[in-house]
Amino acid sequence: MIHPVIAKKDVTLHILKRFGIHMSKKLGQNFLIDRTVVDRIAKAAGLEEGKRVLEIGPGIGTLTQGLAETGADVTAVEIDTNLIPVLAETVGGYENVRVHHGDILRTNIPELMGEGTFSVAANLPYYITTPIIMGLLEARLPIDVLVTMVQKEVAERMVARPGTKDYGALSVSVQYFTEPDIMFTVPPRSFIPAPAVDSAVIRCRVRENPPVQVTEEKMFFRVVKASFAQRRKTLSNSLKVTGYGADVIKEVLAMTGIDGQRRGETLSLQEFADLANAFTKLKNEQ
Ligand code: SAM
Repeated sequence: MIHPVIAKKDVTLHILKRFGIHMSKKLGQNFLIDRTVVDRIAKAAGLEEGKRVLEIGPGIGTLTQGLAETGADVTAVEIDTNLIPVLAETVGGYENVRVHHGDILRTNIPELMGEGTFSVAANLPYYITTPIIMGLLEARLPIDVLVTMVQKEVAERMVARPGTKDYGALSVSVQYFTEPDIMFTVPPRSFIPAPAVDSAVIRCRVRENPPVQVTEEKMFFRVVKASFAQRRKTLSNSLKVTGYGADVIKEVLAMTGIDGQRRGETLSLQEFADLANAFTKLKNEQ
């Protein structure tokens, strides 16, 4: 069977017209029209026959097609009811593709994917980029790599190092779970409709173990969140958001040797872990 390339402007417009689809801004629908980008995403995910990949938001099947043509087994989750009959036609002919109709944030992914490791590849709906990525990572699913198209500005925040303007809770969380790399940037003209901003494909290789030792993960994220809640505040002040009083905070800072006058955005992952472990230690001693 011959499958025409979907990632082209005229083919995409034809499909949309034929099915009477009006693209939804609310669902973050910006469809790729550049096959090179599709192939580079599949390559970055290291896909080949026998591998399994979860695609989030297949749209009209543009990226799905590229993923399928690597020989990998593709499971694609699409929320938009109107796109389900379109996908049946555009990628229904690939035996290695299965489409699941649903909201990725409400999907039972272990049940959908079953046993064994899989990769994630997606041109993500930008309105829920962070909940999707963090949800997948925090659930500790057996994912080896996530390759996703995100807004360039979000990709820069994910890879940001301490002391830079982009460094924040997202950087710390993503780097705690993965080793992220920006693979390449993508201009607005590679999509229909063209988004207002540049995009980037980021590859996050999931770590087997976190890069720092944390006694209680919940405490680690509580400290990280508090430290970045108000960027202009010093640690002594911002840590109050954890709910602990000034005396406990003072003791924790003394235990770790971290200067309370510093701001959260200057702290390394190790320093966040040290602070969290000190809070946990004091809590357990009480
Ligand atoms: N993969 C296609 C491409 O690259 O051309 C479409 C990407 S488009 C940026 C994002 C897709 O995610 C849309 O098809 C949209 O309907 C879908 N989507 C939005 N929210 C979703 C959700 N919560 N769960 C699953 N899919 C969702």
